Amino acid sequence: MVKPLSLYFHIPFCNKKCPYCHFFVVPNKEEHRKALLDALLSEWQRLLPKMEEHEITSIYFGGGTPTLFGAKAIHTLLEKIPYSSDCEITIEANPEDVTKELMSKLKGAGINRVSIGVQSLEDDSLLLLERTHNAKRAIDAIHITHNADITNISIDLMYELPEQTSKNFENTLHKLKTLPITHLSLYNLTIEPNTAFFKRTLNLPSPEENLKMLQAATSHLEEIGLKRYEISAFARPGYTSRHNIGYWTARPFFGLGPSAFSYYNGKRFRNVAHLHRYMRALKENRTPVDFTEDLPYPQNVHELLAVQLRLLEGVDLKVFDLPDATHILLAKLETENFLERKGSHCKLTSKGILFYDTVATEII
Ligand code: SF4
Repeated sequence: MVKPLSLYFHIPFCNKKCPYCHFFVVPNKEEHRKALLDALLSEWQRLLPKMEEHEITSIYFGGGTPTLFGAKAIHTLLEKIPYSSDCEITIEANPEDVTKELMSKLKGAGINRVSIGVQSLEDDSLLLLERTHNAKRAIDAIHITHNADITNISIDLMYELPEQTSKNFENTLHKLKTLPITHLSLYNLTIEPNTAFFKRTLNLPSPEENLKMLQAATSHLEEIGLKRYEISAFARPGYTSRHNIGYWTARPFFGLGPSAFSYYNGKRFRNVAHLHRYMRALKENRTPVDFTEDLPYPQNVHELLAVQLRLLEGVDLKVFDLPDATHILLAKLETENFLERKGSHCKLTSKGILFYDTVATEII
């Protein structure tokens, strides 16, 4: 029987590095784009024999800024991939790059879902994040995409931003009401080492203000028809992200491109996070993987359980081969009102949703 599988392509090009970004990105240069396309095609050829056992049900182009790769390169890759007829094929886009022509070409190449990095609809916040779009450009990008007949549109939104108050975050939330979006991913800003923000003194909102923003987002998004289905994801009925659900439910996936992660046969591995080393490995017919993790039992099932609990519908504990000690821990988390259990079904309570990190740390 063929098993579902996902593909992720990491396209690392960006025109400039945002001060909070901790992803692997490189400057956008034409010679790099050409060489990366060759390398990705070689990596795909190496994976091809494994595809006989699988049906490719989702493909995701992330980055970086994958639209900088160009619709032609995306088309070249997609035409080599025997994906299922209802495959969800997503590309991330920054608002400033969205044009009718680009979106129409991407649709022609097979893209049927676009994830737009809106981040905020307040110009002050966008300036502080050093983004190169403003609120109007972000709204225009959503409409342009929709008018190009790509109607499955997700946006990324951030909170806990420098100088942000719950009041100005609510302004962003109110502006969402009339936008033709089907999905929203909500992230709090995290200040990671090796970012420009890490070295700066930022005036960040208080924990009380952050909690108000999160609560405002959840209630407002539900009111406009975007139901929370995962800790940080909201969707209209029928528009949950098939690709992301794969990550939360241990569907195997291959990540292609520098720094891309894969999960296959219970093992996690990662390609080298260096453009030239990645390309050289493929040119020399070597694997670009430089890190493999094969967690032993029971850490492997603990990690799967913690990740799957991110889905608010919960999990069937029967599926996990959990040791007795873990059942005792789950009972304790239930007594502390972090989890709710009925028979073998287990899900986060509203307190558990709020303190998911605590629950995950206890389980892992
Ligand atoms: S556009 Fe996205 S990937 Fe590129 S630097 Fe900014 S946050 Fe990072």
